[in-house]
Amino acid sequence: MKVFKFGGASVKDAAAVKNIAEVLKTAGCNDVFMVVSAMGKTTNALEDVVRLYFENGDFELRISEIQNAHLEIVKCLFETGHPIYDEVLNLFADLNLFLKKNRSPNYDFVYDQTVSFGEMVSTKIVSHYLNLTGIENQWLDVRDLIKTDDSYREAKVDMELSRKNFKKLGKGKFYLTQGFLGSDPNYFTTTLGREGSDYTAAIIAYCTDAESMTIWKDVEGVLNADPRYFENPVLLKNISYQEAIELAYYGASVIHPKTMKPLRQKEIPFFVKSFLNPNGEGTRIENGLKLEPDVPCYILKKNQNLLTLTTLDFSFITEDKISRILNLLHQLKLKVNLMQNSAITLSLCVEDKFIQLDKFIDEVSLGFKIECEKDVSLYTVRNFENKTETAPGDGKELLRQIIKNTLQIIRK
Ligand code: ASP
Ligand code: MG
Repeated sequence: MKVFKFGGASVKDAAAVKNIAEVLKTAGCNDVFMVVSAMGKTTNALEDVVRLYFENGDFELRISEIQNAHLEIVKCLFETGHPIYDEVLNLFADLNLFLKKNRSPNYDFVYDQTVSFGEMVSTKIVSHYLNLTGIENQWLDVRDLIKTDDSYREAKVDMELSRKNFKKLGKGKFYLTQGFLGSDPNYFTTTLGREGSDYTAAIIAYCTDAESMTIWKDVEGVLNADPRYFENPVLLKNISYQEAIELAYYGASVIHPKTMKPLRQKEIPFFVKSFLNPNGEGTRIENGLKLEPDVPCYILKKNQNLLTLTTLDFSFITEDKISRILNLLHQLKLKVNLMQNSAITLSLCVEDKFIQLDKFIDEVSLGFKIECEKDVSLYTVRNFENKTETAPGDGKELLRQIIKNTLQIIRK
């Protein structure tokens, strides 16, 4: 079996959905498990619904806007009277009802129950459309297959339980299902973290012992630099699992950090290809491959915070102090992307996805002098050629670190 993943950009409008059928005709869809994300920016829009729900805003209006955007796409793909119209309306009615009847104060729980509708709707539309064009497929609810704990918004997958569920499925078919979702022991919906559909594809590849996994994107493959910030990026043809994990760790947005582990465990080859050019070679990621071409890779991570902690009494930053600080960061789900220490200071580049930074600062300032530079960028060059490299932008350089073949710069 092969696993394919189509992300939000590949289903952003009716033309994009039609294009998927073309990609499948080229790539083949016999014995394939296909994972599909929410359409375009739907997940962001549904995050807005959650926000409105908690602020007692007009979430119903926002839902109806999202519903209309989906119906516009449906109108371009199906004749009136097709059952998809009712299915889409029913899904949004369910979402409305859930939010109206439920008064849960648990933000993360409500978040998962809500944003999951993006994937439910998109997969219904794509599945029906493919069936209409003669690409017969079986729609599956991934929440019946991927089991997780109840850490909403970043659920932890129970691989063995999930694997047993996948084993029950018949072979040689074309299955289509949602990315990013799972269910907890009480069958409530969970999500695997933003952009988690790649991870879903990797979980499925692992659970079905797939022969390969392909992510179809709007770029030719993995590039050595993000074209949004850098000119003339080059396509990386071959990457080892090891290097792919490093690139993901430093923030290369094409590879979701959790994706690599399940693939590596089973040595499943991983391809990144363009849905606009399905015959292109794309990128191949596999065990032991040499980076080709052998070029530096540039990664820019925005929205970072640089914290500088100094002991109050000129005592050394000792292991026990560092371990207490790291523990607190872990508890508050603050992600450290760079760390550097000297005798009395510890510098940390921190990502504040769950809005906990101020809490951290409050607690730590009891024992340390703490300076915080918000909204800085972290620039990483893997395989760098030039030690005097400067980071893009014109803000002040705040910190520089070189470890082996990795150069990192923090810039305001
Ligand atoms: N739709 C989800 C998101 O936008 C999952 C994904 O696209 O991978 O984060
Ligand atoms: Mg996406």
